[in-house]
Amino acid sequence: MSEEVYEIGIVGKIRIDAHSLNNEGTVGNVTEPRTIMLADGRKTDGISGEMLKHMHTEAFWQLAKERNVTLCQACQMLRPEKANKNPNVTKVNEVKEALNEALKCALCDIHGFLVEKPTLSRKSTIEFGWAIAIPEQFYRDIHVHTRVAPGEKGKEAETEQMIYNRPTRSGVYAFISIFQPWRIGLNEINYEYVPNDEDRKERYELVIDAYKAMLSRLEGAMTTTRLPHTSEIEGLIIIATNAMPVPLISPLKDDYKVQIEKIVEQKNIQKFNSLVTALQELDKLKTYQPYKLGAT
Ligand SMILES: [Zn+2]
Repeated sequence: MSEEVYEIGIVGKIRIDAHSLNNEGTVGNVTEPRTIMLADGRKTDGISGEMLKHMHTEAFWQLAKERNVTLCQACQMLRPEKANKNPNVTKVNEVKEALNEALKCALCDIHGFLVEKPTLSRKSTIEFGWAIAIPEQFYRDIHVHTRVAPGEKGKEAETEQMIYNRPTRSGVYAFISIFQPWRIGLNEINYEYVPNDEDRKERYELVIDAYKAMLSRLEGAMTTTRLPHTSEIEGLIIIATNAMPVPLISPLKDDYKVQIEKIVEQKNIQKFNSLVTALQELDKLKTYQPYKLGAT
């Protein structure tokens, strides 16, 4: 029997050049990049956790479809409401039973949801913090672009051009993520697992593969013309094999790896320093079984 994994933490830094992965919004013809204020008052660039979670969700969904993993009616079509649009859940009055029904869907189980009736929420088993640019290692530029308005060709030059401003950002971003295999398929009302061990393991591997997919290619806003140039990546995968949370120290700190290595046993740390090694180390996680509460 292979070893069980309770929780997995992934921390690291990734260099992304000339991207515009998410933005604050558009005011007039200017699109504002996301700004993060750090505790020491420094301002830096960021990519929101929502954006990163969305990337993981989409990768998970594609892989789940390919592998014919059970998804609810809403998740079959990647609807953001998830279980809230699953009639098999919303027709049930009893919360525990509604949750049992919802947990049959791999995507609802892994990424969480909110159901209005009956009132029911599930916290995601995967969490992402903001990817935050190291304050000394980011640059931003606003580029002015013009495009010819459709149907305006042949008119005076002044009237046929639309001017708009687009941000382009480059930086080394610190990222953090947590995955809780112990909660896969766990009904957190009666604390019983809904899917069998085999299905829990299948969902576990889907999560790992979705991490691999998102690291291989970052999806997000404005990739049509701002496809990110990703290059250097480094970091640690931290594993907890018993019911203790993994320590997360932000890669915003220069010595984050040294500190984590002082806290966590060597056998529970996997290092990576390139995309190749990151993908290899993620694959190694597949030798574990998701932890089962009260099963020892
Ligand atoms: Zn679902």
